[in-house]
Amino acid sequence: MSAVVPNPTDRLGRPFADLRISVTDRCNFRCTYCMPREAFGASYRFLPRSEILTFEEIERVAGIFARLGARKLRLTGGEPLLRHDLPGLVRRLATATRLDLALTTNGSLLAEQAAALAGAGLGRVSVSLDSLDDEVFRRMNDVRFPVARVLAGIRAAEEAGLAPIKLNAVIRRGLNEDAIVPLVERFRGTGHVVRFIEYMDVGATNRWRLDDVVPAREILERLRARFELEPLDPGYRGEVARRWRLADGSGEIGIIASVTAPFCGDCTRARLSADGHLYTCLFAAAGYDLRAPLRAGADDAELEALVRSLWAGREDRYSELRAGIGGRPARIEMSYIGG
Ligand code: SAM
Ligand code: SF4
Ligand code: SF4
Repeated sequence: MSAVVPNPTDRLGRPFADLRISVTDRCNFRCTYCMPREAFGASYRFLPRSEILTFEEIERVAGIFARLGARKLRLTGGEPLLRHDLPGLVRRLATATRLDLALTTNGSLLAEQAAALAGAGLGRVSVSLDSLDDEVFRRMNDVRFPVARVLAGIRAAEEAGLAPIKLNAVIRRGLNEDAIVPLVERFRGTGHVVRFIEYMDVGATNRWRLDDVVPAREILERLRARFELEPLDPGYRGEVARRWRLADGSGEIGIIASVTAPFCGDCTRARLSADGHLYTCLFAAAGYDLRAPLRAGADDAELEALVRSLWAGREDRYSELRAGIGGRPARIEMSYIGG
């Protein structure tokens, strides 16, 4: 019997526990807080196909992270459903890693793909949904995409057995504060969990200002004015959302206060970009190139040792330091690394 090697732990005592894999840096939306069209226009250079990890390469890297003790693997992007044959990738990963597999999507193509994804072994899906008001939703995705098609995608996911679904809304001052209560009203009784996310200063293109953040405290006040809420304990170490249940038992909500109540102390997440770079923080300026050794023929043991040593040297805690940093240091875009 081989000895069990524990998950690597970083310099701040945080174990590695989950991996997000971005499968493309492209997206069919231009959400103003993520891919503003001024920055992601016709001249923007997306990753060429040759630089993007193939399914075989993703499967190998995922296998290495599974051996390092990953308990969860989430596929993201850009918009992951734009990647050709995503169900094919899900099938490979489900077979090779046997990990809990999840997907984060804008939901625009979910109606067409939900059944194939579930059939391939996807366990869970999170859908980004910033408003139920069609005009507000179109303004936020900035490609005039109708909310009804995302709602059809959510229904298809339910029918395919991908429920309960997490519905994530980024709340931005002056744009969609009025979406908070209707989102909870709409999904109470369905078993789905609505989560509200503070608008973050990710990337370098969204012209983030602290004034545009609707703090978690205010989101909660709006909810409390309408619903009776009871706090819930975190589901597991590293859970980023603070959770509440509706006192009548009709639903659960979460609030992710990345700006006003950072949770770096419990951050157990690694991120892999579509071109095979490993990031140990959402706000990192640079990643570690895993694709080069992968394509140069490194074996699994070498790659595993490399990732172990990278995690062991990790000391990121950007959100806790944010207030003292000032300015806006260089960093990767959310659409590249996947949130
Ligand atoms: N395209 C997919 C989607 O929208 O679900 C997956 C990738 S997207 C980058 C992942 C998540 O990041 C989405 O839920 C999105 O709302 C969130 N996000 C993007 N920019 C953000 C920002 N500036 N602040 C907070 N969340 C952000
Ligand atoms: Fe695309 Fe998701 Fe970013 Fe919106 S949040 S632009 S859907 S990657
Ligand atoms: Fe994790 Fe970096 Fe976010 Fe802190 S700022 S919670 S270390 S990703």
